Amino acid sequence: MEPRQHLSNPTHELFRQVVEAAPNAMVMADGDGRIVLVNAQAEKLFGYLRDELVGHSVDMLVPERFRSAHPEYRHMYYGNLSSRPMGTGRDLFALRKDGSEVLVEIGLNPVTTSEEVFVLAAIVDITERKRAEQELIKRTEELARSNHDLEQFAYVASHDLQEPLRAVAGPLQLLQRRYHGQLDARADEFIAHAVDGATRMQKLIEDLLAYSRVGRSGAAQEPADCAAALDQALKSLSVVLQESNAQINREALPVVIGIPTQLALLFQNLIGNAIKFRRADQPVRIDIGARRQGDEWIISVKDNGIGIESQYFERIFMIFQRLHSRAEYPGTGIGLALCKRIVEQHGGRIWVESAPDGGSIFSFTLNARLDRSART
Ligand code: ADP
Repeated sequence: MEPRQHLSNPTHELFRQVVEAAPNAMVMADGDGRIVLVNAQAEKLFGYLRDELVGHSVDMLVPERFRSAHPEYRHMYYGNLSSRPMGTGRDLFALRKDGSEVLVEIGLNPVTTSEEVFVLAAIVDITERKRAEQELIKRTEELARSNHDLEQFAYVASHDLQEPLRAVAGPLQLLQRRYHGQLDARADEFIAHAVDGATRMQKLIEDLLAYSRVGRSGAAQEPADCAAALDQALKSLSVVLQESNAQINREALPVVIGIPTQLALLFQNLIGNAIKFRRADQPVRIDIGARRQGDEWIISVKDNGIGIESQYFERIFMIFQRLHSRAEYPGTGIGLALCKRIVEQHGGRIWVESAPDGGSIFSFTLNARLDRSART
């Protein structure tokens, strides 16, 4: 039988032209695995001229080590004809004329004529894609490693800096307390500057340490009561709450799978900010609420403070990003980055809705399922 005869009528000629125009390499074989049609892309991919392929077995395009199994695969395909990818889940290699191999993806399509069933294979060279994928995996691993190193560094640095800083700040404070007014005015001023700097540095290191600690804790496993975490936060803030005469309204809060100390820190930072960024012309009012949405709780902390312009909604969650000078509002710019980290550590998201002078609502999600093992 001469296979090319099957493709000689006008319809077949049209088919031939369509295959020729395809952007991918195409190889069509008959039931015996003999190549009946190839396009220019296939010539280019395999390095053969058309006549060197047509009439020969497709097995010539299969690397030696896979060749013996190929007829069996072909046979199986004919037993269950459908359009589908070849060899899903394993790497496919094709053999070029020059003996080199190319990583490919192959789509198989049965083509039925009145006399016979052919198989049309569309072949895509995925060497470059695979290389890019491998590169991406490598880069991601490198990034994770350097992130980890950086976190380790931040943790060790902030932890180990505490001790010498205490050795500076303690005596400085003593100097200020005991000798204030006994030296000249310039000396008092210098000491005040030094005390101020040391105090700020202590706060910065404390915040950095808290930030790097969050990254070091494992995933939460135990139920944690958000209401208790809020109590803890309000207790830590009792002095500023009193000073600012803030009115706190709270709804019932859920129990979630979480780390209680981190949840307390989260509330403490959000409420601390709500008080710090208050408006001078009205009393502080903070509403803390929770609502269930599907598998999540959305917990929000709403204030009536100075608000934030929308262009800063993302930036404020980055570490050391602040919108005000220290003279206007004190702070280290770590608070919201810490909040984001805590929420993400719990598998949630955090965001803000706000307008200048219109107050702000900071919301975050926490998984509502109390059984962590049921999540995956
Ligand atoms: P810090 O409070 O130390 O400045 P944060 O990371 O907690 O750092 O906050 C970053 C910035 O986001 C703040 O400098 C402030 O401009 C803005 N911000 C945070 N919370 C509020 C709020 N409740 N109302 C208005 N602005 C806020």
